[in-house]
Amino acid sequence: MTGSTSLRLGVLYPREMNLYGDRGNVLALVRRAALRGVELEVTTLGLDGGDPGEIQACSGFLIGGGQDMDQLALAHDLVTRKGPALREQVSSGAPLLAVCAGYQLLGEHYRTAAGDLIPGLGILPLRTEAGRRRLVGNILVAANPGLGLANPLLVGFENHSGRTILEPGLHPLGKVVRGGGNDGDSGAEGAVLGSVIGTYLHGPLLPKNPALADWWLFTAAGRTGTTLDRSHLDDSAEEAARREAIQITLSGSRARGYRLLGRRPRIRRTG
Ligand code: GLN
Repeated sequence: MTGSTSLRLGVLYPREMNLYGDRGNVLALVRRAALRGVELEVTTLGLDGGDPGEIQACSGFLIGGGQDMDQLALAHDLVTRKGPALREQVSSGAPLLAVCAGYQLLGEHYRTAAGDLIPGLGILPLRTEAGRRRLVGNILVAANPGLGLANPLLVGFENHSGRTILEPGLHPLGKVVRGGGNDGDSGAEGAVLGSVIGTYLHGPLLPKNPALADWWLFTAAGRTGTTLDRSHLDDSAEEAARREAIQITLSGSRARGYRLLGRRPRIRRTG
């Protein structure tokens, strides 16, 4: 039997949950799917949509990062309106990749510095409490070998006040090589459970880490019986960008990184 040649990506709250280039994750998946012979259609699951039928029609999901006030504004919609269908989809193996605020919203709750208790979906057994100091900067993570990523060294950028505490038994996405990660202390970064990955890495994540984009595509295709070319792609441009990012991060000098970029980027302080 020949499988289908299209997949559908559901992007949760792209308007509100889109910090530090997270929209690039959508573009990377669409492009990489095309290179692998698959048309990736995109459905927006925002505050004005995302009914159960639309969620059930998706092969997998992405959610990006956002500010506390936006997390607060959409949490009720996420938990009550989208939660049941999303939970059903991921429990049957649909990939869900969540970045930063999106990651926090998969847990039990996020308590902000202002004292708001933002409820989460409870898909991942973790909770997040705001810390006094934001964890900001470039980050390198050695991904859990169990994921079988072609290149397990993940590169990205983090900016969060939340400290995420995993319940015993929940595996992190990987070990922090440089940066803060889940809590700035434990050496753990992100979480992985079945077809769900949560991480603090923006940057955007997937163009910088094509192996993780392939994880999403292979998981979605495998579950739906979609025919997808799994052969090696020419990632020389991505590898060149990664080498630069890794060098900047390992040098530990922000100033050097900023010089290489030719200007000092403005870091928006998100609350
Ligand atoms: N608002 C959250 C925090 O500060 C998440 C920020 C983000 O998505 N970068 O912890």
